[in-house]
Amino acid sequence: MINPKLEKAINEQINAELYSAYLYLSMGAYFEEKGLAGFANWMRVQFEEEQFHGLKFFGYLAERGGRVLLDAIDKPETEWDSPIAVFTEVVKHEAHVTSLINNLIDISIEERDHATKSFLNWFIDEQVEEEAAAADILNQLKLVEGDGRGLLMLDRELATRVFTPPVA
Ligand code: MG
Repeated sequence: MINPKLEKAINEQINAELYSAYLYLSMGAYFEEKGLAGFANWMRVQFEEEQFHGLKFFGYLAERGGRVLLDAIDKPETEWDSPIAVFTEVVKHEAHVTSLINNLIDISIEERDHATKSFLNWFIDEQVEEEAAAADILNQLKLVEGDGRGLLMLDRELATRVFTPPVA
């Protein structure tokens, strides 16, 4: 049986991952409306990844004999001033998610739950990738700022991203 403190924290993390999915889907809707189908595609893949994260925590908690309790998912933002504003928020959001994962690790260390600590290592690596990918796109957006052709080239590049479920 998993300890109640970790059970609660993992339930909160499931909610945070599903909120992330919802936020990226909302950002995708913003890009759809702007006619930037590649950016919208990138966000849709991000949406799928976050659902995968949520399900990974769901499966783990169930496996450890915990009770998954789903809560309401907050309403995501729907409007941004520019693609740069969107990716500034993505970078900020992923840093926040990293702090949540770090906090979960702290709890697993305090509670001497080595299995959970080991399970969380995958997320540590994943967050490094998430933060780097978001920062890359934000940098590229800053480089092409004001240049429509550059933005369209970036859009075409982001159109090629596909979701491949990571091998756990
Ligand atoms: Mg995530």
